[in-house]
Amino acid sequence: MEKMVRKGSVVYRLAAWVCVCVLVLGCAGCGGSAQPVPGQESAGRGTQYGGEWGNPAYREVPQPFSTEHGNGEANGLERVETAVLEEDIVAYPVAASGKETNAVSQEQTLQRDAEMEALKAAVTDVEAVEVYTTATVRVRRAPSMEAEVWTLVKPGTVFTKNGESDGWSRVVTEEGTFYIKSEYVREKIPPAEGSHVIAIDAGHQSRANTEKEPVGPGAGETKMKVTGGTKGVATGIYEYELTLAVSEKLRAELENRGYQVYMVRESHDVDISNAERAQMAYDSGAEIFVRIHANGSENSKANGAMTICPTPKNPYVAGLYADSQRLSALVLDSLTASTGCKKERVWETDTMSGINWSKIPVTIVEMGYMTNPEEDRKMADEDYRQLMASGIADGIDAYFGGQ
Ligand SMILES: [Zn+2]
Repeated sequence: MEKMVRKGSVVYRLAAWVCVCVLVLGCAGCGGSAQPVPGQESAGRGTQYGGEWGNPAYREVPQPFSTEHGNGEANGLERVETAVLEEDIVAYPVAASGKETNAVSQEQTLQRDAEMEALKAAVTDVEAVEVYTTATVRVRRAPSMEAEVWTLVKPGTVFTKNGESDGWSRVVTEEGTFYIKSEYVREKIPPAEGSHVIAIDAGHQSRANTEKEPVGPGAGETKMKVTGGTKGVATGIYEYELTLAVSEKLRAELENRGYQVYMVRESHDVDISNAERAQMAYDSGAEIFVRIHANGSENSKANGAMTICPTPKNPYVAGLYADSQRLSALVLDSLTASTGCKKERVWETDTMSGINWSKIPVTIVEMGYMTNPEEDRKMADEDYRQLMASGIADGIDAYFGGQ
């Protein structure tokens, strides 16, 4: 499809199709439904977003998380949902229930308490640092999987860490001292003078603007300023809602890693065209422009992530090709490694206004297909959203680390 678009005469015939397709299915901000190409790399390890979280919908493929990313791998047991937690609390009731306890269980309780105290004593003090959680994770009263769970916290929850032992981090809060598996906490890096600046555009907005704007600087061809995007077939969530939710997580993740972040939009009720978004990203002083979208297709089986960048012959931003391509490839690799979703491809196309108007390296991230019921449901999940955000952030880290 993208090849045909470049041939003038076909453009108009195609435009009608794109309009319909885009309104019904596609990620319109991206200039149309980005269809997967048969035979393209689809290395995905399938739906690895699996059993650990206890969501029956995702239990078919209970494989471990990717080992490359520290996002859970073997010991996914700390990554739980409430139902599992409740079972756990039942399994380890607090003794103060007022019920009679027989001598044996009392003895067992005392023994376990002693073990827990020994484990706590074995924790080494470290210099206090701020850390944040990278998943929904249990916070326990002692550094052991057997220890009582104090609470369950969301990804991005900040704690002060002051101790470490055997895979556990000791954290202090106003409520006391607790323990979290170290693989689910990460040190928060304060933004430094001169740290990298990232512009994030949460794709679309609550109301489309059907006025037209040129597809690039000086272009005769025009496209709608901004469309409504696609919609989750199973969840009914709109693309503009999903993109902002993930963008907010991405902002938090990047800020926690020491980046400065500029958000093109922070609410749904805005009216900002794709060209304006590109200009805003540039004006913010950002070094790269990351546009967050979700995909749509007529084929409800289509699934997986892709990223989009210009071609080397783009009439407006050919000079941004190399960096945009590299950014797109790194983000796609990291996103698919983090989530375990299928890897489609980096789509090189000159049909996207928001790319053609960009003045800094740019990528569009099509995180998954909202027209695929299973992928739509996954993308509605808080923890999966965090995996998408941290995967995209990993790609950004790689981009800046690799220069
Ligand atoms: Zn979109």
